[in-house]
Amino acid sequence: VSSSRPGAASTPFGPGRARFLARWSGALLVIAGVTGAVLLAFPPAPYADYAVVVSSVVIAVLAGLTLLSGALDHLPLGTFQVVIFLATVLAALGVYGGGGPSSGAEMLFLWLSPYAFVFFSTRQAALQTSLVAGTYAVVLAVQHRQHPGIGSAGVLLGLWVMVVASVLVVGILVRHLGRTVRDVDQRFRRGFEDSPVAAAFLDLELEFVEVNPALCNLLGRTRDELVGSSVLLVSHAGDVENARWLRAGPGRIVEDESRFLRPDGTIVWAEVAGSLVSPEIGAEYRFCQFRDVTAHRRDREALAHQAIHDPLTGLYNRTLLLDRTAAALARRDQKGTLVGLILIDLDQFKVVNDSLGHEAGDAVLMALAPLLAGAVAPTDTIGRLGGDEFLVLLDELSSPLEAVDRADRLAEAIGAPIELTGGMYVPAASIGVAVASGVEHDAAALLRDADAAMYRAKAGGRNRIEVFDRSMRYEALRRLQLEHDLRRAIAEGDLVLEYQPVVDTTTGKPVSLEGLVRWDHPSRGRIGPDEFVPLAEQTGLIVALGDWVLREAITQLAEWQLLYLVDPPLRVTVNVSGRQLAVPGFADRVAHLLRGSAIAPGSLGVEITESVIIDVEVAYETLESLRALGVNVLLDDFGTGYSSLAYLEQFPIDVLKIDRSFVARLDEGSDRAVVLEAIFAMARALHLSVIAEGVENHGQIAKLRDLGCTWIQGFVVAAPLPREEVLGFLIEQQTIARAIDRGSAR
Ligand code: C2E
Ligand code: MG
Ligand code: MG
Repeated sequence: VSSSRPGAASTPFGPGRARFLARWSGALLVIAGVTGAVLLAFPPAPYADYAVVVSSVVIAVLAGLTLLSGALDHLPLGTFQVVIFLATVLAALGVYGGGGPSSGAEMLFLWLSPYAFVFFSTRQAALQTSLVAGTYAVVLAVQHRQHPGIGSAGVLLGLWVMVVASVLVVGILVRHLGRTVRDVDQRFRRGFEDSPVAAAFLDLELEFVEVNPALCNLLGRTRDELVGSSVLLVSHAGDVENARWLRAGPGRIVEDESRFLRPDGTIVWAEVAGSLVSPEIGAEYRFCQFRDVTAHRRDREALAHQAIHDPLTGLYNRTLLLDRTAAALARRDQKGTLVGLILIDLDQFKVVNDSLGHEAGDAVLMALAPLLAGAVAPTDTIGRLGGDEFLVLLDELSSPLEAVDRADRLAEAIGAPIELTGGMYVPAASIGVAVASGVEHDAAALLRDADAAMYRAKAGGRNRIEVFDRSMRYEALRRLQLEHDLRRAIAEGDLVLEYQPVVDTTTGKPVSLEGLVRWDHPSRGRIGPDEFVPLAEQTGLIVALGDWVLREAITQLAEWQLLYLVDPPLRVTVNVSGRQLAVPGFADRVAHLLRGSAIAPGSLGVEITESVIIDVEVAYETLESLRALGVNVLLDDFGTGYSSLAYLEQFPIDVLKIDRSFVARLDEGSDRAVVLEAIFAMARALHLSVIAEGVENHGQIAKLRDLGCTWIQGFVVAAPLPREEVLGFLIEQQTIARAIDRGSAR
């Protein structure tokens, strides 16, 4: 029975049933043999024949044992058939030779022998049946002639027909059953073999009884290697003990994830579903299915890693840091230790990003991450909050002083210069420290405190450590309030422009007016731009603010140009932030405003500072477009930025405004003058005009004039003026100019 594959008889499919049938047939034959022996010992008739009985016993025992041993498939059919044929013939001869009516044994044997053949083929069974039928016919004929008194021919014939018919019916039934079993077996085998799902049958000792190709593939082993070996040999040692899928009880499918080993040592993660099968017939076994989830697991782990790590530096991210902080704060109550946060914000990082590119900025962060990580204690958690901000969670602090110590160590760790393509960066950081006090702190509040302290460090001149105190929380709130108010101020027109003149000291004539924004705060009074422009920059409000300034300045200039007629026409400059420049369509916006006004072309100027250029290319294009409109470009605060000369070469600029720090130090000594001399020489070479800012006294004017700089702006001429005072100033200045003119003419 069953398939042609070697060893297949041991599979738990149909063959089990075939084996069952074979066993029972064998048992039947054994019973026949035993019956024969009994009949031999207590013969029911005087005709019992030794040859028949002995042969039937031998055949029955042989056949029974062969069938019982389950080796039917391996038995050379020919031999077995021949033996049974011979025995049948012998029995027939015995019956004939005995001359009398058949003994129970020979009748029984003859009756049963065809059954043995139904397992081989219907043809064999039919052949045997006809042989038996023939023998009976002969026996009946002989008996009838010799002992006419024994039974009627009709009764004997009826008996004979019954025997033959029963043999045939049973034979056909058994054959049919065998074929059905084989079909089912084959169908299931197909599904098993061709399934993309790896599967195996295990016996209760956990040895593979059968495996499918998908499983061989998953485990990287051949079928021969697996069948007969224990599943534990290919399992990861760490998973064996808890392998619930190998202990599934009856009627339950247990799913689990488990690791397996391939011969090359790699580990395969598989999702396994195991069940225990208790068939009606045959031994219990386990059926297991395996799905390779190694890649899936890897993805899952990567995702889990991503969820709590910063991709750039590999340090933890904000989410994890805040979670851990919250957990540490919760634990602290039980432990009685302190929890602190150290917030590190790099100084001048933006300058690196702006001037050397984002790659350089990334390189700085990547270089600093291991240095910072190396400077924290094992109980601390360090991560990057985003941008140039790092956060360290200090768990189990015994005193706030310890937090400051750690911050010191961190500050030391980041002092080493970092070499970058295109420059060098000496990192420094403003560090804020906050330690949780009392129970009022949650993670977000503690972070806000550290942030406030960090802000204080920045405001205090950078590169320093500040520890949070309560007044800072007030300051942080104030900043929030300010941002809210500024938003409203821009919308509701609480901003005003003041104008500070630039004059030519040789002629006394006004060169231009610089528009400087102020904020008339409803409750705090007038606030200067230093207080709210940086805030506007941070929050993006600068774009709306800058637009208002532009509109206001242009409208005002148009009015003045009607009233104050000079040649060239009066000019106004406005300060433009780098973020404003980066807004797409900024030049178009200026063009639109200019078209809508009546101001003379070339009378508007924009002041930009080198340090706020965000994207060099965008800025360059925008500045070019502005110049094409006739707008002048002034480089403000020259000398304070990071790489002034590079900018001079890169940008289309008309005027340099020398920062007031240079002018202020003209009073002190002569080395500043040397620098200024060089700057003026360079400006002349590049055909740039120069304005000196922040000129406060006549000594400075004289020195500047010696250096060749005659355009000045500063308190010595005028402070920024409310717009109502501007015309008065201009007219007064005209008088001065005329006087100078007359003086020089004389
Ligand atoms: P800035 O463009 O360099 O403006 C010159 C600043 O120097 C002004 O400060 C002015 O009042 C001050 N100043 C003028 N003469 C002297 C002097 O003789 N001595 C001293 N010590 N200071 C003098 P203010 O008005 O506070 O403006 C500060 C900065 O705010 C400006 O520097 C500019 O960068 C920014 N700002 C002002 N208005 C705007 C604006 O509308 N938009 C943008 N984006 N920034 C603006
Ligand atoms: Mg300016
Ligand atoms: Mg300036």
